[in-house]
Amino acid sequence: MEQTIDKSKPILVTGASGYIANWIIRYLLEAGCTVHGTVRNLNNEKSVGPLRQIEAAAPQGTLKLFQADLLAEGSFDAAMAGCEVVMHTASPFLVRGFKDPEQALIKPAVEGTRNVLEAANRTTSVKRVVLTSSVAAVFGDNADLRKNPRGYFNEEDWNFSSSLDHQPYSYSKFLAEKEAWKIHAAQSRWRLVTINPSMVGGPALTRYSQSTSIDTLRSLGNGKLWPGVPQMRLGWVDVRDVARAHVEAAFRPDAEGRHIISNGEPTMLEIATILKRHFGSRYKFPFFELPKFIVKWFGRLLDASAKPRFIEQNVGHALKFDNSRSKQRLGLQYHPLEQTFVDHFQQLIDDGMIR
Ligand code: NAP
Repeated sequence: MEQTIDKSKPILVTGASGYIANWIIRYLLEAGCTVHGTVRNLNNEKSVGPLRQIEAAAPQGTLKLFQADLLAEGSFDAAMAGCEVVMHTASPFLVRGFKDPEQALIKPAVEGTRNVLEAANRTTSVKRVVLTSSVAAVFGDNADLRKNPRGYFNEEDWNFSSSLDHQPYSYSKFLAEKEAWKIHAAQSRWRLVTINPSMVGGPALTRYSQSTSIDTLRSLGNGKLWPGVPQMRLGWVDVRDVARAHVEAAFRPDAEGRHIISNGEPTMLEIATILKRHFGSRYKFPFFELPKFIVKWFGRLLDASAKPRFIEQNVGHALKFDNSRSKQRLGLQYHPLEQTFVDHFQQLIDDGMIR
């Protein structure tokens, strides 16, 4: 069913200071929109400063910032007032560095989604919610593909293997998206559109983000993963394509349902080879794949969780996503991944994050 969105009304973007949200806000401001962005702390110059720079570079749009916390009930009401579109991107993207996954990941992801969507239920102007979910809500481990009769993951699939103890970030995204569809089904005013990106790469507009994305590419060039990497595939996509997908999902009259946003599943060695071709041997790029038994021994070499079950279920397994729905329904034209990795790595060099 077609649904018209009034682009002159403000658009709420939660988690405005994030890696992906920065790009969404830039595109919305360039299109002349008014954006209501939420951050946890309006006085944090590190998160707010880059947003002010994005605003200054796109004077055709207007950015208004609000303070809101995922765990504070009613926190998003003021920012949502008068909005037809709500983009909910805020959620912690962490795969390590926390003790209690329930507190660090599950609570903010699930309760946060509930808070934002309950605010949408209270705000009569809201017509559409674009939720930043993830392919982590679609699948858990690469090995799960063996049980998939299609031989690739698409929007019909749901993660069935993650839990609080195993891949808790993925579990948080699965639970949050399920919760969103449940709340959506209980009302009829607003439509839910989900964006399910794979690992996001490409240049950041902020140095504040704690996103795991930024760390992953850095570890390929700073010697942490030298000389060998696990034979491990991840889905990857350019941050600019993920942001475009959100904007299309917000404004296309017929946008609905889930969208896998992913542009290929290179191994870590394939990424390192691309980087080496462009940046030469000045950096300590890995140059071979470690046998799986070595990876199990030296699990700490992995960039994500190094637990034996993670290695068993992900290293050496195939991975494939079908991104055709994103092209057909959102009109996405993906940046070549080579450009994504090169632009991203160049920025890490320019910012002094890789020496
Ligand atoms: P990011 O840079 O770490 O941004 C996450 C944002 O969430 C931060 O700006 C942070 O806001 C906000 N946030 C975290 N906890 C919060 C809380 N308790 N209350 C309010 N805000 C909170 O991460 P990102 O990579 O852009 O990820 C954005 C979204 O995309 C997440 O939902 C993530 O799961 C999803 N995603 C990311 C990737 C990827 O590879 N990057 C892939 C698939 C899906 P403050 O500035 O206020 O702290």
